[in-house]
Amino acid sequence: MRRCVVCHYGEIALKGKNRSFFEKKLVLNIKEMVNYAEVQASRGRVVVFSEDEFLEEKLKKIPGIVYFSLAEKVSSSLPVIKERAVSLIEKESFEKFAVRVKRADKSFPVSSMDCAREIGNEIAIKTKKKVDLTNPDITCFVEIAGQETYIYYKKIRGVGGIPIGTGGRAVSLISGGIDSPVASFRMIKRGVRNIFIHFHAYPATSKESISKVEQLVKTLSSFQGKSTLYLIPFNEIQKEIMINTLESLRVLLYRRFMMRIAQKIASKEKAKAVITGESMGQVASQTMENMAIAQGVLNIPILRPLISYDKEEIIKEASKINTYKTSILPEEDCCVRFLPKNPKTKGNIFDVKKEEKKLNAENLVKEAIFKAEKRTIS
Ligand code: ATP
Ligand code: MG
Repeated sequence: MRRCVVCHYGEIALKGKNRSFFEKKLVLNIKEMVNYAEVQASRGRVVVFSEDEFLEEKLKKIPGIVYFSLAEKVSSSLPVIKERAVSLIEKESFEKFAVRVKRADKSFPVSSMDCAREIGNEIAIKTKKKVDLTNPDITCFVEIAGQETYIYYKKIRGVGGIPIGTGGRAVSLISGGIDSPVASFRMIKRGVRNIFIHFHAYPATSKESISKVEQLVKTLSSFQGKSTLYLIPFNEIQKEIMINTLESLRVLLYRRFMMRIAQKIASKEKAKAVITGESMGQVASQTMENMAIAQGVLNIPILRPLISYDKEEIIKEASKINTYKTSILPEEDCCVRFLPKNPKTKGNIFDVKKEEKKLNAENLVKEAIFKAEKRTIS
């Protein structure tokens, strides 16, 4: 069945001249995610017509939509609006109701207040129910937008944020853990398209850890649409580090290699930043000193949306976006292999560079990228 949905965006409307750019992106994103969709931006709202049976579930996940409503579209004539408002609302059970009317412009000759009063009277007469503006069981919303009027009575919350693509592109380092998928989600919600990078130690670790990451990316692609995942073999690099360098600096060396590779892929993908799931003080590598050492090889910014989050907050969000149950499946992350007994919590950049001299960093990076696999996931 073809349905009509009115989508509202909060922040976008505030963005002045950017508004039409944001609206266009949102329209395109809805078209990409929703099947058979006809989408129009119309005076401060986006109206979607579609037969997609998962329409509501999909709209709930599209960044930029603050709330939406299944609506009836009628022509902007008061007698028609009154009749349709009654027939829509009389199917529901309620005792007290309210009517809220919004006019997109003042071309409609009757004021919003007067419209609401007329529609309210009609509903009260036909249904024998009472108007209660302060504590209604149900509210009938009427939006008059030029020639068209939309009537609805239920608002469904979306994810909010701003449309994908309005914030550019970034590479996102995704492990199979709890944190990085949440970090990606936070940035997706801020309009940033994520290109995913996962470092794995296959065949030293199992194929399951890769399918786990694929599943996580699939879940995230329900928010941002079709996604790219780079699978980077990290085995060789880890071996070289393990054989040739000081044990206590291993983690820092791993991380600098991850960043070097991320940087190369970012430039290939026209991405302008690296996203990680780091949170202050959570593990040895997540101290200010060590974060500075790891990011020292980059010339683009690192975004750490979870830096101030507590673990419980991250878990709560992971459950909400449906990545938690995948993240807690048992895994063999490449990074927990060869973990030193006493990793340095405050590394020294001179020591790290001295260790790095023992490796052929450029070649190792080149080789890992050469052997990378690129997948498209949706
Ligand atoms: P997570 O829960 O995301 O695995 P973590 O608490 O285990 O994070 P670390 O192991 O220090 O913390 O990793 C910090 C960040 O580095 C991760 O959030 C992720 O962005 C990135 N990262 C770690 N391991 C990998 C990996 N194998 N592939 C890609 N990125 C990784
Ligand atoms: Mg981890």
